[in-house]
Amino acid sequence: MRRPFIAGNWKMNLDRASALALAEGLAKQSKGLDGVDLAVCPPSVYVDAIGRALAGSNVALGAQNVYHEANGAYTGEVSVAMLRDLGCKYVILGHSERRHILGETDAEINKKTHAALAGGLLPIVCVGELLDEREAGQTLDVIRRQFDGSLAGVSEEQMGNIVIAYEPVWAIGTGKVASPTQAEEVHLALRNLLQERYNKGVAEAVRIQYGGSVKPDNATVLLAQPNIDGALVGGASLKVDQFMGIVAGLTK
Ligand code: PEP
Repeated sequence: MRRPFIAGNWKMNLDRASALALAEGLAKQSKGLDGVDLAVCPPSVYVDAIGRALAGSNVALGAQNVYHEANGAYTGEVSVAMLRDLGCKYVILGHSERRHILGETDAEINKKTHAALAGGLLPIVCVGELLDEREAGQTLDVIRRQFDGSLAGVSEEQMGNIVIAYEPVWAIGTGKVASPTQAEEVHLALRNLLQERYNKGVAEAVRIQYGGSVKPDNATVLLAQPNIDGALVGGASLKVDQFMGIVAGLTK
């Protein structure tokens, strides 16, 4: 039985005061919640303050990105050890905005994945196709290529520390959510790929989140799909009620 996992990606949003208020609201509203893992990934400059606000709560701390080198002359970058030092448990890797706006490649994501695993951060590795790739019938090829590239050299044991997020690029921040059938088809393909590349045990254990315009009113049916184990949430993670509304969708 895979434990559901809902994570919020705050992206480059909020100011310090509103980020703190959001974290405090989530800490309060998630009190006593059981049977689900929750996390938020604030902008890196707020990670420290948000970690303090979430201390002792049911909401774990994550980062939106990390650099693969341990230290040195890498202006503007942040290391795995620095994020661990601030209490981060998770790191989002290969988000489509990093792939398509910032030009991150599978090879770079792969280096970051290995650095995160070696340093004790749990990677949330994102994969997802563009609209023209879906329309050209290439969705599963893209997913396979990103999976193999981003996860190259990851051992069976390490795979147990990875979460995969399927995020169709055309559904991110657009209000166009994938239908439960469209999402489940890709999640099942990812589960089969895990079995092909690793084994049945790994395929059954790894959590696969869906991301792309998840809101309280569409979460229940998405989260009810057999291979959807949670959600990576952008816009709706910026409001306590909406994020907690998505979490509530797990129990409906
Ligand atoms: C995301 O940023 O990962 C995301 C899924 O965004 P949104 O929920 O806003 O589509």
